[in-house]
Amino acid sequence: MLGATGSIGDSALDVIARHPDRFVVAALTAHRQWEALAELCRRHRPEVAALSDPDAAQALARALAGQGLPTRVLAGEAGLVEAAALAGADTVVAAIVGAAGLRPTLAAARAGKRILLANKEALVIGGAAFMAAVDAGGATLLPVDSEHNAIFQCLPAGYARDPAAAGIRRILLTASGGPFRTRPHAELAAVTAAEACAHPNWVMGRKISVDSATMMNKGLEMIEAHWLFGVSRESIEIVVHPESVVHSLVEYVDGSVLAQLGHPDMRTPIAQALAFPVRVDTGVPTLELARRGSLTFEAPDHDRFPCLGLACAALDAGGTAPAVLNAANEIAVEAFLGGRIRFTDIAPACAEALARLPARPVRALEDALAADAEARAVARAWLKLPIAA
Ligand code: NAD
Ligand code: MG
Repeated sequence: MLGATGSIGDSALDVIARHPDRFVVAALTAHRQWEALAELCRRHRPEVAALSDPDAAQALARALAGQGLPTRVLAGEAGLVEAAALAGADTVVAAIVGAAGLRPTLAAARAGKRILLANKEALVIGGAAFMAAVDAGGATLLPVDSEHNAIFQCLPAGYARDPAAAGIRRILLTASGGPFRTRPHAELAAVTAAEACAHPNWVMGRKISVDSATMMNKGLEMIEAHWLFGVSRESIEIVVHPESVVHSLVEYVDGSVLAQLGHPDMRTPIAQALAFPVRVDTGVPTLELARRGSLTFEAPDHDRFPCLGLACAALDAGGTAPAVLNAANEIAVEAFLGGRIRFTDIAPACAEALARLPARPVRALEDALAADAEARAVARAWLKLPIAA
């Protein structure tokens, strides 16, 4: 479990705890929350626990000493990479937020694991190189992002990233529209981080909450869908669906449209992927459609949510462009959460990075990582942020 102390980590551990006969936790990782990780180690007794912050890892090792646990403590990115490739684990839940998840998730791919992918940024950055590593390692990628998990459930069994062969006309990617769906354009410059993180339907980590508010999340998800399912940008349609009950749809050439529905609760897609192809109980309540009455749909507003257009442009440009977009967005979102920039500065910072750094081909992952670093510098300079240590 990469990112065990986060929102997805919490939901995944909840599902796992309901099925001790089926799942055993082999390793838990986090960034620097050693106290939270220590608590999870006592509960799940993993073989390995890893923290990317070395000081926090030392604190964890001290906290676990003498408690009779089987847990070895590892430190740094190398520790996370070792945990992700652990021989005793067959499945890796990739739930680190942002580019920090790329190397550990790749390690899982190279080790041939079954990867439950929540960390969409890793796939957006790595693109074709990431997919090649999955194929070369003999790994399996199962989407946990609710929309992609819905699409996966609506695809024919054994689907092999060839929409034409499967008779697919379009992918309909639903979006809640986020907390500012109906907020007038003129008011967006003054919204706060707390407002941006108050999502109407989902409780999530702060970064993805801001991405939902700018709708960059849907842009990243469009790129994610492109790589996961081999669909072109033109055959992905974004539909705003404020209730977040229809999690996405697949339209076939005969006119059939298949959808997956459910309560907005990440335990459903996580359990679907964890137990696949079996179904297991999650504690998610029954969907009472009659009580809900109606489900609504509308087109996205590209003027108020320019990040959608930027993501389309990045996917069209290809190569390093999605990595550039993602990196500039990570810098801008962090600055917004820290109160240093306005909400409406996020999209222009991303646009600036895309304009200043024309797409280059990604021959190896290093090309994408170099673009990621350049885009961070461009975004920092444009936003007048201090240069990172
Ligand atoms: P979160 O902020 O709640 O948790 C992030 C986890 O990653 C934590 O365990 C943290 O310790 C770890 N982490 C953070 N920075 C790290 C670093 N530099 N090195 C190593 N570990 C680090 O985030 P989340 O909401 O659980 O989201 C995780 C991923 O799942 C994101 O990519 C997000 O887009 C995706 N996702 C989340 C949801 C959701 O409902 N929360 C839904 C779909 C997809
Ligand atoms: Mg999603």
